[in-house]
Amino acid sequence: MSNTKDRKAARVDGKITRAYLDADDDQTPEHAPELESIVHRLLQLIGEDPDREGLLKTPLRVAKSLTWLTRGYEMDVHEVVNNAVFEEAHSSMVMVRDIELYSLCEHHMLPFFGKAHIAYIPDNKIVGLSKLPRIVEVFARRLQVQERLTEEIAQAIQDVLNPKGVGVVIEAYHLCMMMRGVQKQNSQTVTSAVRGIFRNDARTREEFLYLAHSHTPLVR
Ligand code: ZN
Repeated sequence: MSNTKDRKAARVDGKITRAYLDADDDQTPEHAPELESIVHRLLQLIGEDPDREGLLKTPLRVAKSLTWLTRGYEMDVHEVVNNAVFEEAHSSMVMVRDIELYSLCEHHMLPFFGKAHIAYIPDNKIVGLSKLPRIVEVFARRLQVQERLTEEIAQAIQDVLNPKGVGVVIEAYHLCMMMRGVQKQNSQTVTSAVRGIFRNDARTREEFLYLAHSHTPLVR
């Protein structure tokens, strides 16, 4: 990668700027050193021996992984879409379907994952299509509940584009339901959030929901 040098430079003084994170969202942000000792203690408390060979690097790995999985706290929607909003007379529905989504539920800190479908009807402003998955990342990479995640994505698009309407549908599987407790392994949770004409106009809303749901299931 061409920016390897830049990445190292940004790490040296121990802080990673927000602009830097946006430039390469695969980069793991710096984690709080205390996280490692907490994970070490956590391993003891669940009955493990943190000093056995296989677990020696686990506190470091978990600290890095958890920091990466929650890096959305360091991201900002306006910076993510920066320079990608264009004037355009297009006034029909724009939809991006099947945006992969991975998040952590805030109740158990276990993953939930699935797909987001986003549509909007522009009011003279459109956004680069690749920015829609980036907006999803900003909010998915935090501790979440699916309902709030859906609303936050819809509101962010509303704020950035001020379109005639926005609709977001998320279909997700929650590991906290699948792995523990009731073990309802095939239940998918579907949430939707609508703004503007998607809320006020039944035909627009129906078109959106039809398009959002007309696809093959995520997990077969
Ligand atoms: Zn949960």
